[in-house]
Amino acid sequence: MEQVGFIGLGIMGMGMARRLIDAGYPVTLWNRTASRAETLIEQGAIWAESPRAVAARSDIIITIVSDTRDVEEVILGESGVLHGVRAGSLVIDMSTISPVATQAIAAHLARQGAAMLDAPVSGGSEGAAMGTLSIMVGGSDEDVARARPVLETMGKRITHVGGNGAGQVVKLMNQIVVVGNCLAMCEALLFAQKSGVDVRRAWEAISAGAAGSWMLTNRGPQILERDWRPGFTIELQQKDLRLVLEAADQVGVPVPNTAHIFQLYRTLQERGLGREGNHALVKALEALAGFQVQGSSGEAS
Ligand code: NAP
Repeated sequence: MEQVGFIGLGIMGMGMARRLIDAGYPVTLWNRTASRAETLIEQGAIWAESPRAVAARSDIIITIVSDTRDVEEVILGESGVLHGVRAGSLVIDMSTISPVATQAIAAHLARQGAAMLDAPVSGGSEGAAMGTLSIMVGGSDEDVARARPVLETMGKRITHVGGNGAGQVVKLMNQIVVVGNCLAMCEALLFAQKSGVDVRRAWEAISAGAAGSWMLTNRGPQILERDWRPGFTIELQQKDLRLVLEAADQVGVPVPNTAHIFQLYRTLQERGLGREGNHALVKALEALAGFQVQGSSGEAS
């Protein structure tokens, strides 16, 4: 069995690393905030002092941190993976970051004789914990075949979509659809509310029909309960939309809907709501509409 290194124990990484340990992989961990690793160490994972030390002990090194610069730091930085990685090792970055930066990182690793896959994910914290993520993979056929058993512990649909950077392009495509769904859900809930129907029953009715979506099923009830705990934070959602706008600009494609939603999220960030879940998008529309969506309890906040 390959030795697996894991870097980044946030909302996603925690569940994903646990899946690997439960599947019997020998896992070496590093996280910037060391305390987050404690429960996984109790379950048998080994702590390493830096990303570099993780790489030195591992055949396959997984990273899942926040943004492009954070991946650059844990891979290319002073105590990064690049300085410990062995020739023949495989780095799998599962964060959502810039497709262009991904190709540059892959080139750095290639000079050390190591390969890279970009394998960003979709499916939220629920998918990470249950091993049901969708994983979009960019890289060579050979490296994807090598990674597949490891990826299968974390995801139920693993799609090889092209060379280095292609996984990130498809993830950004995913985000265009996700935020479009989210905005549509928020508009629809406000419309139902103002029209005087029971919003919870309306949600039940449309969830099972053609309007059904992951967003409606998983985040609709949170809006009805005014539960803003994040599966995916507004900060990270906004980061992904910035990546979409940059990438669309580079290839010359208009993305008016995504640009509009980017601005709505900006209003929430400026109100200090960046750590709330991305479904709190409804608060931007509520501010425009002048009223709030209420669940069946009638409570609103
Ligand atoms: P999160 O809960 O905010 O965790 C971020 C993780 O990255 C933490 O482990 C954090 O370390 C680490 N980190 C950030 N900057 C770092 C740096 N400069 N150096 C070292 N470590 C750093 O985020 P998340 O929700 O798990 O998301 C992680 C990635 O997955 C993001 O790219 C996100 O876009 C993507 N993603 C998330 C979801 C979702 O639903 N949450 C879904 C699909 C994809 P600390 O613990 O020290 O803060």
